[in-house]
Amino acid sequence: MSDAPAKGLVLVVEDERPIADLVRLYLARDGFGVHVEHDGAAGLAAARRLRPVACILDIALPGLEGTEIVRRLRGDGDWTPVIFLTARDDEVDRILGLELGGDDYVTKPFSPRELVTRVKTLLRRASGTPDEGRRVRTLGPVTLDPGRRQVTVYGAPLTLTPTEFDLLGHLLNRPGRVFTREELLASVWGYASAAGTRTVDVHVAQVRAKLGDAATLIRTVRGVGYTADA
Ligand code: CA
Repeated sequence: MSDAPAKGLVLVVEDERPIADLVRLYLARDGFGVHVEHDGAAGLAAARRLRPVACILDIALPGLEGTEIVRRLRGDGDWTPVIFLTARDDEVDRILGLELGGDDYVTKPFSPRELVTRVKTLLRRASGTPDEGRRVRTLGPVTLDPGRRQVTVYGAPLTLTPTEFDLLGHLLNRPGRVFTREELLASVWGYASAAGTRTVDVHVAQVRAKLGDAATLIRTVRGVGYTADA
C-alpha cells in the first residue's frame, strides 16, 4: 500500500487495532503515507524494508517490544525518529533513558491530533530548522555545526539523536544564559507542558553522558534549569 505520500511514509506498529486505525486516519488526513503493522517482528521488517521518515511504536507488542525494534534499528545504524506509545506513565524514564533515540512519547489515552503535531515537530527537527541559522557554535572543546548537523568534542565526531542535537544547540546558542525546563521544552520539543519537564532532564542526562569529559559544560542551575558555559 504505497500511495505516494506528500509528506513521507510513517510506520505505525500498534497491536490495538482501533488505536492503529485512528492514528492511520489522522496521519493520512494530514498528508502522510501510513503503513501499519500489528506485531513487533513485522514492524521491524517493515522499518527495514520501507525506510519510513518516522516510526510510531507501541511499547507492549506481541513478538518484539517497541523498544527492542528501536534497539535493533539503531544497531543497523538507522536513526529514524521514533515516537513511543505507552500505556504506563512510569515507563517513561526507562524508555527515554535507553539511549535509543526514542525522541518523544505519548501516554495512552492520547489525542490523535496531538500525536500528528508531535510527528510534524519531530520531522521538522530531524531535517533541521532553516530559521535556526547556519552559524557554527563553539564552546570549550565542543563544536556544533547546524548546517551539517554535526557535533565534535575535542575534534572527534559525536553521534546525537535529533532531539539531543537541538537541545545542545539551543543551550550553545547563548552561553551563560539560563534556560528553564519549560523554555527548553517549548523551544526544542515545540510544546509546553509542565508534565513534560522530566523529558528535558532525561535528555540532558543523555547529552552529558555522550559528552564525556566535556559534560561539565552543561550546568544545572538548581531550582531553575540549565545553562551552557565553559
Ligand atoms: Ca500493545
